[in-house]
Order: sequence, then C-alpha cells, then structure tokens
Amino acid sequence: MTETINKEQIETDVIVIGAGPGGMTAALYASRANLKTIMIEKGVPGGELVNTADVENYPGFKLISGPDLATHMYESSLGFGAEHVYGDVTHIEVHDGVKYVHTSDKLYTAPVVIVATGSHHRKLGVAGEEKLSGQGVSYCAVCDGFFFRNRELVVVGGGDSAVEEGAYLTQFADKVTIVHRRDELRAQKVLQDRAFNNPKVEFIWDSVVEEIKGEAGVEAVQIRNLKTNEVYDYSTNGVFIYVGLIPNSDIVKDLGITDDEGWIITNDAMETSIPGLYAVGDVRQKFLRQIATAVGDGSHAGHMAYQYIESLKAQAIHAG
Ligand code: NAP
Repeated sequence: MTETINKEQIETDVIVIGAGPGGMTAALYASRANLKTIMIEKGVPGGELVNTADVENYPGFKLISGPDLATHMYESSLGFGAEHVYGDVTHIEVHDGVKYVHTSDKLYTAPVVIVATGSHHRKLGVAGEEKLSGQGVSYCAVCDGFFFRNRELVVVGGGDSAVEEGAYLTQFADKVTIVHRRDELRAQKVLQDRAFNNPKVEFIWDSVVEEIKGEAGVEAVQIRNLKTNEVYDYSTNGVFIYVGLIPNSDIVKDLGITDDEGWIITNDAMETSIPGLYAVGDVRQKFLRQIATAVGDGSHAGHMAYQYIESLKAQAIHAG
C-alpha cells in the first residue's frame, strides 16, 4: 500500500467523498442508519448548487436559490451525526474489502465508500480561452455575471446549462448571444421557450467559436458557420462556456470502475463492481443529471451502505 507513513489514520463505517446533493443525502441516510459517517469535501458544501442561481425543479420549493438549498441540505446531512471534514482526496485503494481513502495528510479507512465527486465544465479548447479565463471567459454565470452589467455576452453551447445560464445573464447584460453548433437546442423545452421569448437573447445557429480574441479582456470571438464555412469576428465583452461536463473521477481511475469517458459505472443500487464501493450523482454514468436524481442516488447508496455492513456482520458471526 502507498503513502501510509506519517499520515493520521481514521477508521469509520462509511466515507462519503463530496458534499453535493448526492453526497449530502448519502451521509444523511447512512448516519440515520446509525453508521459512523464521515463526509469529506475539499470546497464549500453544496457542489454545483453553489453555482446555481435559481432552482425551480426540486420538489418542496417553488423557487429557491442554489446556495439556500445547499444550506438546507447541508444542515439535514449532519442532523443524524455525520461528520463533515475538509480534505482533498487524492486516491482510493481497496485491499481485502477495506477501502483506503487518501488525502495529502490523512488516511481514512472504512468498509464502505460512496463517491459523490460530481463533474466539472468542459473547456472549449480554443485559442484565447486559457489566456482570457477570468478576464472575460467564464464557466459560471452566478459567479461572474454581475461583472457584465450593460455589456454584451456570448454563451457557447445548446444544453440546459447554456440556455438556462444564458437567460440568467440577461438580468445583467444588454444582449446575450447563444452560439450553438446545430440548428436545434438540446435543452429542456421549458428552458428553450423561455430563452426564445426573452428579447435580450439571440441565437447564432450551426456555428462554433474557433477563437476568443482580446488582450486585457475579451473583445471578440471568431465564429465559423459549419454549413457555409463562413468565418467572421463577432464583437463581445465576455464568453460563458457550457459545452458539457467531465466527471471528477481521477481518484478512482486505477480501480477499473469507469467507462471510457471516466463516468463511474453502477447498477440501479449505486453499486460499482467493487463490493462496498458506491457512486452517486453527476459522477455516475447516468441518463439524467439533476439535483433530484442525485438526491435519489444518495438515499439509495446510504441505504445500501447499511445493508452491506449488516451483511459483513452476518458473515463474521457465521464464520466465528
Ligand atoms: P450537455 O447537456 O452535455 O450539453 C452540452 C452542449 O454543448 C450541447 O448542446 C452540445 O452540443 C454542446 N457542445 C459540446 N461540445 C461542444 C463543442 N466542442 N463546441 C460547441 N458546442 C459543444 O451539458 P450541460 O448543458 O452542461 O448539462 C449537463 C447536465 O446537467 C445535463 O444532464 C443537464 O440536463 C443538467 N442540467 C440541468 C439543469 C436543469 O434541470 N435546470 C440545468 C443545467 C444542467 P450538441 O447538442 O450538438 O451535442
């Protein structure tokens, strides 16, 4: 086993890695089943909720801000004794059924680990993106939208994030132009209708952004129309990029539980191919990435953790 020397070692029943909606719900269910539960998070609890302005599709709340919902969930998740600790998990090892969760200075061990590490926004990978990141290029409307009051913005993508965040940005910007590579959106119909009816939202169809131009800030994007091959510069003050998600699954990359793109493969009970190792929420290979589905995953995994530990106890009694 690697890197155990000089690390403080902490033993528990259940380790939840990540404190987004899936992880927080898993911690709630596991601790309520009387399991000693540690939830490790390297940032602010809430996951993507923290970067979400308004939530209107989570039952129980007609409309609630992402950070407010995160606060409610966080309080619930610790209500039955789960412990939240700060930590940046580097990797997980599994030996004889025991899971070893490494952070830079600690080693957590448990029979059950629930991976709830979520995903992050994919970069566009074009010239100027890196250089102007934080200087007009952003992946978070809630974090950076305010800086574009009365300016003009480009949003790249055609999914829920691009369309929802594009509409959100119109409360600051005078005009938001959504550049999408096809002539129809992937986003949910309700979000599409809202964007189509928003006088501040415009669309450039069948087109990709090939370069982001500017010196100290964004000045223009170079756009290519994929149907006509026409290439032109389009003036803008900022670019928000929403072209999909990448799973945060590096910590399990050596365990053989992901698909080719890095999404963790589970069955309907959130079990990976390794007994006692579960995955929930956006990091999981799944059809629908939503707060509600992450919460469903988390409750399932928390319950399965209890079942798994009971089965270990029964095996021990049988063997002894
Ligand atoms: P997504 O659904 O994967 O959509 C990504 C969009 O970017 C697609 O329209 C895709 O085009 C486009 N795209 C991908 N690569 C591109 C490239 N290199 N250049 C230009 N365009 C590119 O990602 P998302 O919108 O971030 O959503 C992620 C998940 O979160 C989804 O499951 C979504 O339902 C969920 N979500 C839900 C809500 C909500 O319920 N309110 C809000 C936000 C996100 P194509 O369509 O041509 O593939």
